Amino acid sequence: MSTFKKSLLILVICLLATLSLRVFFTQNSKAKKRANHNRSVSSIIKEINQKTTPILNHVNSLIADRKFDSAIQILNETITHTRIDPRPYIILAALYAKLGDDNRAYETLEKATDADIDNNYVFREFLSRTAAQATAPDVISDERVRICTFKNNKKCAITYSFDDGFKSTYEWGLPVFDQFGYRATLNLISDRIGNNKLSGTWPQWQDAHRRGFEIGNHTMSHPVLRELPAQALENEVNKSFDIIAEKIGEPPLTFVFPFERHNFEERVVKKILERHIAIVDHKYIEPVYPHVFNPTFGGRHFSLETAKAMTDFAIQKNLWLIAQCHDVGLPLVGNYRPVSKEFLYQHLSYIKQRESEIWIDTFKNVYRYLFEKKNTEIVLKNVSTHGVAFEVKSPLDPKIFSVPLTVAINSQIENLKTARALQNGKLLEVTIDKNLIFINIEPINSTVNVEF
Ligand SMILES: [Zn+2]
Repeated sequence: MSTFKKSLLILVICLLATLSLRVFFTQNSKAKKRANHNRSVSSIIKEINQKTTPILNHVNSLIADRKFDSAIQILNETITHTRIDPRPYIILAALYAKLGDDNRAYETLEKATDADIDNNYVFREFLSRTAAQATAPDVISDERVRICTFKNNKKCAITYSFDDGFKSTYEWGLPVFDQFGYRATLNLISDRIGNNKLSGTWPQWQDAHRRGFEIGNHTMSHPVLRELPAQALENEVNKSFDIIAEKIGEPPLTFVFPFERHNFEERVVKKILERHIAIVDHKYIEPVYPHVFNPTFGGRHFSLETAKAMTDFAIQKNLWLIAQCHDVGLPLVGNYRPVSKEFLYQHLSYIKQRESEIWIDTFKNVYRYLFEKKNTEIVLKNVSTHGVAFEVKSPLDPKIFSVPLTVAINSQIENLKTARALQNGKLLEVTIDKNLIFINIEPINSTVNVEF
């Protein structure tokens, strides 16, 4: 080897050594940074917990003294300030449930699913603390004719509502729903469509609409609506409505707030209701159906077990469970609270197993059913041992409110074999279960005759 070659070799060796040392030190400092970051996160959590613990001890003594209002106020303030401590959510939700205010209990659990905390722990603890009260509301009735709480007399309803119009929802999520024959609601931010690589395109959402998925409005650009002046609000709500109506070929019936869950203004609600029939929001739905639970589904702190526990809970308590989802992607990719394709498949497999008890449908369909039920009157006309006749009275626009209502007729005959039903002379399909006859009627002013 010549002197030149030798020096070249030494040079190469030196270069390699420097390079590997650099890689070693960079990695080392990255690991150190990560460790420092983890240490700072855990020390912050520790600090918050140390500060919260005496407050929670005080709250527990207030509860023991039955000073519930003060306890509720302190817990709500603590949640606003700490957000990431799971304990106040658990104590508050369990307290509301104990006081019989289920809706505030569910709303507290919803807030916990919005915060980046261990939701498996929160929901499990809530269930274990409220197990004794976990009885379903009584739905058995001795009325001769009644409208069932949910379509086909199911015990609960579940809606999957996907926000923000992510491409991954279309590409990965929709095929999973197809596999099970279920439909979801997809809420679009009209100005973002096709504008960045994470968003789906108009042809994709048009295709979803053709396949029976609901397309909802989620504003033009996802702002905090309560901070907007009138013209900007008009644009975000109504212009977005017009764009979706034009592109999809059908107006969006329903709307989802960006950010304002649990904290919206009447002025904004009025604006939304100029063109939409409903808002995906706990407080808005409550007057139409009083057992609603609208948690955020997804993210690294949300497991299949929790989704299953929430499903079982919905069946047990006759809830309308509205699973608020975002994209269908990989965890930790930087998107907001994704559910993975695998998660969705496994979760819907469980739903399939319990399908006889669950009505799975879009937000607009379940909402319309519940709204129609609330506004439809049944007036008995004729009752005999072998027949019932009744009038259906509804003040609603039949062009919009067209979801059939399931009506149960008590024949008072054990093990009934046959029955026949007509609405305005049109023959209806009949299902018989022991003494009960079930029919699905149009929610219109009409006369129904049932013979058995
Ligand atoms: Zn959103």
